[in-house]
Amino acid sequence: MSDPKPFRYDAEVPPGETRHLRYEISETYLGDPVEIPVTVVNGEHGGPTAFLSAAIHGDELNGVKVLQEVADRYDPANVHGTLVCVHVANVPGYLAQQRYIPIYDLDLNRSFPGRAGSNTAERMANQIYERFVKPCDFGIDFHTSTRNRTTMYHVRADTTNPDVERLARAFASNLILSGEADPGSLRTVATNDGIPTITVEMGRAHRFQPELIDRAVEGVESVFAEYGIRPDEPVRWPGWTRVIDSNGDKTWLRADTGGLVEMQYGPVPLVYEGDTICTITDHFKEREKRVAAPFTGLIIGTLQNPVAAPGHPLCHLVGVDDATLREIEREIEAGEFTERPWM
Ligand SMILES: [Zn+2]
Repeated sequence: MSDPKPFRYDAEVPPGETRHLRYEISETYLGDPVEIPVTVVNGEHGGPTAFLSAAIHGDELNGVKVLQEVADRYDPANVHGTLVCVHVANVPGYLAQQRYIPIYDLDLNRSFPGRAGSNTAERMANQIYERFVKPCDFGIDFHTSTRNRTTMYHVRADTTNPDVERLARAFASNLILSGEADPGSLRTVATNDGIPTITVEMGRAHRFQPELIDRAVEGVESVFAEYGIRPDEPVRWPGWTRVIDSNGDKTWLRADTGGLVEMQYGPVPLVYEGDTICTITDHFKEREKRVAAPFTGLIIGTLQNPVAAPGHPLCHLVGVDDATLREIEREIEAGEFTERPWM
């Protein structure tokens, strides 16, 4: 076991200390500091350093609550390693309760690793990355669906990288969507920099969803068990895991007609080939378009705003193999299947 070490950003948090800090990453028009809230829990025992980040998109709140819980939950006496919680990365977006950094609509999650001499987003990204991501060994970045949609709880990770796959599986979600993320995203940049990173997608923007938050807090605990940060805790097994690779059966079903959308599936988000997923009708109910499942699978994302124009995404369907299907059917039968479409 390694010796405990101080955590260095541009100050130092010694082993055995929890520090809640505000770190300046930019300035407002008024010249006031824009500060991100960060918690560092440096354990009394040596071990890896993990970062957790939330609200890189300012209106994605479930992860903010996960980090509040995680930051409060661990005592340095029982931690083997260091936890770095970046509670709110995109502070200007968070204050405005919107996804992007206001005014120029810059996406902080396309701005990593950032650059000191560049635009606002890249400067902010650079501060966050250099101070709080680079010193870490692995990380988890929390997101939700974009507004007016919702997503099933799942992990996104490049599982072709074995270190990333280990992390993704340790988080113990049922579903892992495998693939590279966009260039400039925290996940891509950190992973390519030797800091395996996964994204957790959970539910809706602008909400706290307690069931999902509880699961994510347990997922974090499971990751900490896997990496020996909490060596006495068990690594969780979610009952079934389905890894969908980038060539796997998955598709966004889109509207071909405009109108009012009514979801027809449920109460669980499992649909069989040919099932009606939703209908789109006009205001006079003279025209009805049925949208059917092109293959058997799980609906992992769906629109929330129930009006559509042609081309509008309606829902994200991923295929399941026979073994997974049988396990899901068994869980539904036994009343153990907890995924809901969250309409
Ligand atoms: Zn996001």
